[in-house]
Amino acid sequence: MAGATRTHCPYCSLQCGIHLASRDNGIPELTGWEDFPVNRGGLCMKGVNAAELIGHPERLTVPLARDRPGLPLRPVSWDDALDRVASAIKRTQQRYGRNAVGCFGGGGLTNEKAYQLGKFARVALRTANVDYNGRFCMSSAAEAANQAFGIDRGLPFPLSDLAAADVVLLVGSNPADTMPPAEQWLEAGRERGACHIVVDPRQTSTAKLAHRHLRSLPGTDLALANGLLYIAIREGLVDQDYIARRTTGFEAVRRAVRADWPDRTERTTGVSVADLTATLRALASARSAMILTARGAEQHADGTATVTAWINLALALGLPGRNRGSGWGTVTGQGNGQGGREHGLKADQLPGYRKLADPTDRAQVAAVWGIRPGELPEPGVSAYEMFERIGTEGGMRVLLLGASNPVVSAPNATRVAERLAALDLLVVTDFFLSESARLADVVLPTTQFAEEEGTLTNLEGRVLRRRRAVPAPPGVRTELEIWHALAERLGRGEHFPADPRVVYDELRRASAGGIADYSGISWDRLDAGEELFWPCPDETHPGTPRLFTESFPAPDGRARFVAVSYRGTTERPDDRYPYLLTTGRSRTHYQSGAQTRRNTALAAAEPNAYAEIHPELAAPLGIASGDAIRLTTRRGSVVVTARLTDAIRSDTVFVPFHWPRVNNLTSARLDLTSRMPEFKSCAVSVTAVNSRVRVPDFKENHG
Ligand code: SF4
Repeated sequence: MAGATRTHCPYCSLQCGIHLASRDNGIPELTGWEDFPVNRGGLCMKGVNAAELIGHPERLTVPLARDRPGLPLRPVSWDDALDRVASAIKRTQQRYGRNAVGCFGGGGLTNEKAYQLGKFARVALRTANVDYNGRFCMSSAAEAANQAFGIDRGLPFPLSDLAAADVVLLVGSNPADTMPPAEQWLEAGRERGACHIVVDPRQTSTAKLAHRHLRSLPGTDLALANGLLYIAIREGLVDQDYIARRTTGFEAVRRAVRADWPDRTERTTGVSVADLTATLRALASARSAMILTARGAEQHADGTATVTAWINLALALGLPGRNRGSGWGTVTGQGNGQGGREHGLKADQLPGYRKLADPTDRAQVAAVWGIRPGELPEPGVSAYEMFERIGTEGGMRVLLLGASNPVVSAPNATRVAERLAALDLLVVTDFFLSESARLADVVLPTTQFAEEEGTLTNLEGRVLRRRRAVPAPPGVRTELEIWHALAERLGRGEHFPADPRVVYDELRRASAGGIADYSGISWDRLDAGEELFWPCPDETHPGTPRLFTESFPAPDGRARFVAVSYRGTTERPDDRYPYLLTTGRSRTHYQSGAQTRRNTALAAAEPNAYAEIHPELAAPLGIASGDAIRLTTRRGSVVVTARLTDAIRSDTVFVPFHWPRVNNLTSARLDLTSRMPEFKSCAVSVTAVNSRVRVPDFKENHG
């Protein structure tokens, strides 16, 4: 579109290309960017409606502060707001130590913001307490990929490779609903005869389009993967040559799965022996085959082991790096969850995917930051643990929360809200008064996607430019400007430039030589329209769209098998909580819904929280579609609307997590390695609610 600004959707990890063209009313016209190779003009209903966020009447445009706990938030000047925050930081750190102040960032922050917030925590605050919302989303897949391949990039190949796969196995992934523009690549594969298999307790839109649907019990995907590997070994279908040439550790995995015989796997997972055998034979006989996992497989207390089991299967079949259309990948979710951990917003990581615990990594990053390595804090604890420890010895008393809404998005959310309320000072930077911002003592209004410059990294490791299409409203600032102003008040302003291009160039230097090497991806190359995937170690390098074609990034060049066993760690149903609850995304809303629940069309399409239940579960309880029902777990309860559907297992309830209080239900049991919570399964009871009780609507949810 002539004269329009090319940028990207503000929501999910696909980062669809969009055009924003000026209009007289100040709200730009938003259309799909036809030439952008990820979505090729396609957008989902969230993306199509994203322009309404610009100029939204609920937009924050002045800083707000609370004079005392219990008093309402009131408008204050920027200087007043920033002075309050800086003096609270100094006072608190003097009295309780550096770790008494912490930072938590959203998974949608640009690369520059993620980099700068991680640096702000380590250099301006010198605190170990920093983490980000991507911990809740992709960390188990990241751990598993790092162990197996020595690198974590959501998809190690371009999304378009899905079209070249003769067989695709999607485990706990529903792109047809959650990222519909991605579906075009799967559709292209089906049109030329590819076979698609979906593992999911629900018959999702993706499962309906597939050739085979394995309706597994939530929390049993590890058993399923190991059971498939057992069949591959028994039938002589593993790729012995690939295993010998490109991997190490297979023998231990072979021993670990020797008791995962098919009828045992059927009893554990609910997937028939016939389906197991047919699935394995399809994968093993295909010229090209892909195994893709997503949150359905990953958000469990054994999420890292579960992803590892699927990677073991992929390696045993010789898929990663074999040819175009083969491999393993994770379909990541949040807009820049990938960039957030590459650039050091995770508790244990430094920019370039370096490790805070590694002396060499510390020295390299400290040199770029102009500080001594000893000034850097040690690795901190994970997101939920940070919240859990608020107010305790070594825990936070002041929190800077950047563009995240954990009161809705964290597990065991009642507990998280209680802990946030126990802070001495909660500072939220955001552009809407989210449920978490409502708890804040200071709220700092920020720019949003169409008003700012920067870069993001999508699920393929493709680096993208976010471009300003409209001026920001008077009175709001970018996060980079806010952290610069705070750092100045803390005596470290010279370390925190506010220009995103300057920050990006520093990020490139800090990443040089690291796993996620951006040093060759210049702002100018991105603006010239080059398609660049990291790693890209110099400005003549073409980037790396496909990893593993020659070797894996380990010293010996080999991928690692890691033996894992199914232990049934999921919270199981009992007499009091007789069903399994699983959560996920709907077609209409994004993450905590702080943005999409404020959109007219999206809110009209799905105004309130609902749960999908099977008619056989509903009938004995006297529940009809549209009734208010109460879901109760060991942590809390919520009233939602019942949607009866035979697309869900009769022992399982599905509830989307975009509304307040839904995550009061979910479990905060953490994966031992990744520290990712178990959002995807817990035991639940379902009761019909007195007809006088209504499902709370959006406005009531916002207090
Ligand atoms: Fe935006 Fe994701 Fe929808 Fe694309 S699929 S339009 S990136 S929400």
